Amino acid sequence: MAENADGCSVAVKHFLAKIEKKKHLNAFLEVYTEEALEQAAQLDADRLAGKLLGKLHGVVVGLKDVICYKGHKISASSQILENFTSIYSATATEKLLAEGAIIIGRQNCDEFAMGSSNENSAFGNVKNALDESRVPGGSSGGSAVSVQAGLCMVSLGSDTGGSVRQPADFCGIVGLKPTYGRISRYGLIAYASSFDQIGIFANNIDDAALTLEVIAGADDFDSTVSVKEVPVYTTAIAKNAAPKRFAYFKEVLEHEGLDKEIATTTKKYIATLQAAGHVVDAVDFNLLESVVPTYYILTTAEASSNLSRFDGVKYGHRAKLNSTDDLTSLYKKSRSEGFGKEVQRRILLGTFVLSSGYYDAYFTKAQQVRRLLCDTTSEIFKKYDAIISPTVPTTAFKVGEKSDDPIEMYLADIYTVFSNLVGIPSISIPLFTHSNGMPFGLQLMANHFDEVGLLQISKQLMEG
Ligand code: GLN
Repeated sequence: MAENADGCSVAVKHFLAKIEKKKHLNAFLEVYTEEALEQAAQLDADRLAGKLLGKLHGVVVGLKDVICYKGHKISASSQILENFTSIYSATATEKLLAEGAIIIGRQNCDEFAMGSSNENSAFGNVKNALDESRVPGGSSGGSAVSVQAGLCMVSLGSDTGGSVRQPADFCGIVGLKPTYGRISRYGLIAYASSFDQIGIFANNIDDAALTLEVIAGADDFDSTVSVKEVPVYTTAIAKNAAPKRFAYFKEVLEHEGLDKEIATTTKKYIATLQAAGHVVDAVDFNLLESVVPTYYILTTAEASSNLSRFDGVKYGHRAKLNSTDDLTSLYKKSRSEGFGKEVQRRILLGTFVLSSGYYDAYFTKAQQVRRLLCDTTSEIFKKYDAIISPTVPTTAFKVGEKSDDPIEMYLADIYTVFSNLVGIPSISIPLFTHSNGMPFGLQLMANHFDEVGLLQISKQLMEG
């Protein structure tokens, strides 16, 4: 990475200065100044001593505040984890460090990764660096803005329903969500375990591919992670101009919530792809209206279970009690004080859909829809290399514009939740600029574990 004798230190100083200058964006909750400088000095010394260098030697990385780093605070941007320090590192964190990456800090996000605008953080919202009156997207808003504003080279976020791709779209950068199970979730604070996946923010496809190569793969600490061999993505995605077969969902481009200009631009882009020799076919998708409700039923159900561990007893915030308070009031008070409004809403919703009287009507039915979506997807990938769509129906909206209307906020997840429901890899690539000045992306989805295909096509489309 760095050419000079003190290249890593120079790089870290550069990013620290930039972080300081852009403090008002609120992208970082904590910056590891001393430690990053020490790490950099050590890496510089290793290089001078002729030691074997890691694949990410001197790469400056930020971590979303849901990815554990031993000995460092982690809060999921929530009051409930107040003063909690990780006692182990996530496998992804370990792998980054083992390859010489420098972790520069912990990044702001929506509380417990629940949200689409970073307005649900207990530590204030994050600003979009291109227009500070607008949101950066969420839930990994701080991680996206850090790459957008040049505060680090790469960030790790998490994507349960779009939290990497949607902020990447709003910020004009690359956001990759790998296949469910490609990267270990060990040390990732759980929101909805059958959906959660660590994802990568980068400026270009090569950086995303290299990071994925380092952090993907089997892990004894996560029984849901795949043992499939990790391809050498960096070489496997080398330029290839061969024509591809794309599918798109007709209903997606005709959806009433889709910004007219995004629709027109995407349609024109499809025509350009066809003119360049690619096959691009419209495919019927009559389940579009079901994806958001299915996602919110299943993820809130899983969240209500996952978040039950934050009870004021084991760790984090504990409410002050009166002499008459019993154990139940300790739970109630601690959880009411510690969790923000959106997290409470989701816990209640999830508890409701799992309750015995409603389980079949909501939870079982949503699982059935998930099955149907998986079947539809397998059929599509028998014929096509990728599914394309806009990543989000609008460009980045104004701070406060949707924060009072959770349903409106949820509905905007319509294009991203699909790949989490079926577990396939997906990416948002920054191809377009709206007449309002904001960027927007194209989303590509590929078959399970076809990150090579996904990244290769993305490179082809981004680099021409
Ligand atoms: N916006 C979605 C939600 O609020 C996605 C969140 C995520 O991917 N973590 O659930």
